[in-house]
Amino acid sequence: MELFDPDRLRIGEDANPDVDPLAEAVRWMRAESERMVGFPVNLDFDCRPLAEFLAVHGNNVGNPRAESAYRIDTKPFEVAVLDFFTALAGGDPSRVFGYLTSGGTESNTFAVWVARERHPDAVLYASAEAHYSLPKLARLLRMPHVAVRTRPDGTLDTTALVGELARHPGRAAVVAVTIGTTGRGAVDDLPGVRRALAAAGVERSWVHCDAAFGGILAEFGDEAIPWNLASGADSVAMSGHKVIGCPVPCGVVLVPEADVATIRAEGVAVGSDDDTITGSRDALAPVLLWHELRRLGRRGVADLARRCHRTAAHAQRGLAEVGRNPSRARGGTIVLFDRPPADFCRRWHLVHDEEHAALVVMPHVTEQQVDELCAELADLG
Ligand SMILES: *Cc1c(COP(=O)(O)O)cnc(C)c1O
Repeated sequence: MELFDPDRLRIGEDANPDVDPLAEAVRWMRAESERMVGFPVNLDFDCRPLAEFLAVHGNNVGNPRAESAYRIDTKPFEVAVLDFFTALAGGDPSRVFGYLTSGGTESNTFAVWVARERHPDAVLYASAEAHYSLPKLARLLRMPHVAVRTRPDGTLDTTALVGELARHPGRAAVVAVTIGTTGRGAVDDLPGVRRALAAAGVERSWVHCDAAFGGILAEFGDEAIPWNLASGADSVAMSGHKVIGCPVPCGVVLVPEADVATIRAEGVAVGSDDDTITGSRDALAPVLLWHELRRLGRRGVADLARRCHRTAAHAQRGLAEVGRNPSRARGGTIVLFDRPPADFCRRWHLVHDEEHAALVVMPHVTEQQVDELCAELADLG
């Protein structure tokens, strides 16, 4: 956001009833949203019916399934959302612990922390195209981190993984598998990673699926792509604000209940068990997500994903017609194409490097928007 002179927003000594800049800001945010087709965030939601929640302080501190001394919470809604995600991820509800996080980064951090408590000597492996939260959390957790080479399609090279595993004989391995890379939507080969661990003779391992972006897209795509607990992952991270959509970032983490005991401090989180990363936890995101999920149902979520795949295929055709050499990873909804000038990318909120720009098809992206973008590209010549 660039439109405000800082002097206009300065909070001074005296009360100032002029809050007009906020109305201008939200108008600007909504206007820009019209051409936001470059980030994995669904803008198609409306939580204004939940405005009453902005006039009460809720706090879901501690274990989502236990009451804390601060009883004004939304934990029953959090639990309903967790049950939905646990089923989606193919988990056994009696063996899975989960909570709503501040987003994919916290979800990944929590899962890898629990994994490291199980295997204190573990090395963390993730593809070179994994999310930047993985090297960051490795540093935070003081774990050695290996960035494994990717194949030309952007997925983790499982042959290279076998080689890297062999360089750390006797040590446990935590492998972070990416289900939908943030850069190009590539879905790592989860069964292939399991086979690589076996081939390298690793006896102690943990496979974490970072499905923050692509879990829902993999579940409801044209072909079944293994991505979850039912397919051999030990833990899963997912986002709430990406495919589903939410005005604030949020996520879900699922880990084996039996392992959470290693990090749990009983009764210390305002009278609840402390088995999450943060102290106070958001009570708003659970109701916002519950509202969307309840409205949609599992079938509606599947429709969102299918719409993304359809629109991505449409975009691929349109971009080919205007000569931009589009490509798309299997199971993904990101379409990479020959990069237009920087001001065009900025106008359409497109991330780019020297060669490519990325169109990220989320549920709010319509075929009309794609056609408009393609027409503008054609005008560029
Ligand atoms: C977005 C994303 C994350 C991080 O999520 P935040 O909510 O931004 O912390 C992690 N992994 C992948 C693959 C992502 O796309």
